[in-house]
Amino acid sequence: MRDGILVINAGSSSIKFSLYVAQGDDRPELSSKGQVEGINVAPHFIAKSPMGAVLAEERWPDQPNLGHQALFKHMIEWIEAHLGDADLKAAGHRVVHGGSQYSQPLAVTDELMEELEQLVPLAPLHQPHNLAPIRALREVHPDLIQVACFDTAFHRTNPWAAQSFALPRKITGEGVKRYGFHGLSYEYIARQLHQIAPSVARGKVVVCHLGSGASMCAIDGGKSVASTMGFTALDGLPMGTRTGALDAGVVLYLMQQKGMTAKEIEDLLYKQSGLIGVSGVSNDMRVLLESSEPHAIEAVELFVYRIARELGSLAAAMGGIDALVFTAGIGEHSSRIRAKVCAHAEWLGVSMDDEANERTAQMISAKDSPVSVWVIPTDEEMMIARHTRTVLRSMRQ
Ligand code: ADP
Repeated sequence: MRDGILVINAGSSSIKFSLYVAQGDDRPELSSKGQVEGINVAPHFIAKSPMGAVLAEERWPDQPNLGHQALFKHMIEWIEAHLGDADLKAAGHRVVHGGSQYSQPLAVTDELMEELEQLVPLAPLHQPHNLAPIRALREVHPDLIQVACFDTAFHRTNPWAAQSFALPRKITGEGVKRYGFHGLSYEYIARQLHQIAPSVARGKVVVCHLGSGASMCAIDGGKSVASTMGFTALDGLPMGTRTGALDAGVVLYLMQQKGMTAKEIEDLLYKQSGLIGVSGVSNDMRVLLESSEPHAIEAVELFVYRIARELGSLAAAMGGIDALVFTAGIGEHSSRIRAKVCAHAEWLGVSMDDEANERTAQMISAKDSPVSVWVIPTDEEMMIARHTRTVLRSMRQ
């Protein structure tokens, strides 16, 4: 019998799963993946093989209001019926917030759930959705080992100054600090880079995670030392629909002069800003790059400009840079964005091999470039599967 490891990544409108199997010391191997999306609106379940072949698909046109719980139950039933020769041994969950204290994945206990519950005010849009499937699984499988993997954990190695706001101690003491996110992606990239080019991974590396959520991280000798996201996943780079860094005075202006409520401002900053807000065209970089609309062109320009500025800042945090890595949807697939960012980074010693970039080679810098440039696909689910397996093994011993 092989070990089945289920990975769950739950958000407000979708729940994604990846099922891995592993035997002995082998690395976990993806066996199937899928998701329910359109929760409470137009629910849709789909499961695929690792190669992308559709294994199952279902819609509920008569029950558009089907919620998280019912759809999660449906998903679990499908997974259990498709375990093959594997035995479901553990479930790993992406949990956005691990607070100040958690720098490692942890096996879920009653005490841990209580503590993670207390972090909900720090991530009200994500944490409740991350915790709900843990609770639901505990009800149907009370003995199943569950592991919480935190998006903030990788950044707990940041020095004090990188984690701090210049606010009075009374407020920072309550946990108002820079946590950083996308940690599972950065940890995966750091490990991949270590395998591909160990000497590079021992140096000073800036990773650009450019997806619909986007951030950057300075990794020195394999450890995170600074990142662009802060107290929430709103800080740093402009994203598909999020502002990125914003003068806090703008929020005061919106409240005091425009009479906007907290909910309206939240909506504006999280859902109507970033690429969609600036372009008025789309939040999808593919669409913007094809568009000749002046505002779409400006949205791309602003995105690249802010990446370039942050690159300088993160290099300064490390006292230099040896390598630059692109990952996630835009980073992995858009040679044009990579070329634009690298053109801004020539002063840092970045020299691109245009042909290698065009065909998305693993290394896209010129042979004599002082700073090497890489494209490495991220895999947060695999990182969760590996962590879950490690915790599972430590509990068996
Ligand atoms: P998420 O943050 O949701 O996991 P992804 O990492 O999958 O997102 O990135 C999704 C984004 O990647 C899309 O919104 C799209 O803008 C961008 N993207 C995907 N492929 C390309 C491409 N070929 N060129 C430019 N952008 C792309």
